Amino acid sequence: MGSRILVIEDNPLNLKLIRDVLSFQGHDVVTAESGEEGVERAADSAPDLVLMDIQLPGIDGHEALQRIRADPRCRGVPVVAVTAFAMREDIARAEAAGFAGYIAKPINIRALNEQLARYLPGGVHG
Ligand SMILES: [Mg+2]
Repeated sequence: MGSRILVIEDNPLNLKLIRDVLSFQGHDVVTAESGEEGVERAADSAPDLVLMDIQLPGIDGHEALQRIRADPRCRGVPVVAVTAFAMREDIARAEAAGFAGYIAKPINIRALNEQLARYLPGGVHG
């Protein structure tokens, strides 16, 4: 049985890759392409897990995380950062800010599956 996963990512190729992998595993994938849209989807789609790019148009992933955390409808959902390899110095900051973990870009399907296994109740299904 799949989970509902919200993917917030403005890069169309990354978004398609993540969506395809998750859909293939039987998850219900909800997508957003900006921080603002992601905050709205987090509130109205009740996801089990959020995967969020840090560098987004408009508000960035840090600001979006603060807004998600401030909303009682989605306060408890784990939010995993998706961050470029060059931004790895920001990982400590991301975890201090309340991200549950991170996935480095370019996206590695094994790393993606490890995060899914850690943060989804049923683990990896594919
Ligand atoms: Mg981006």
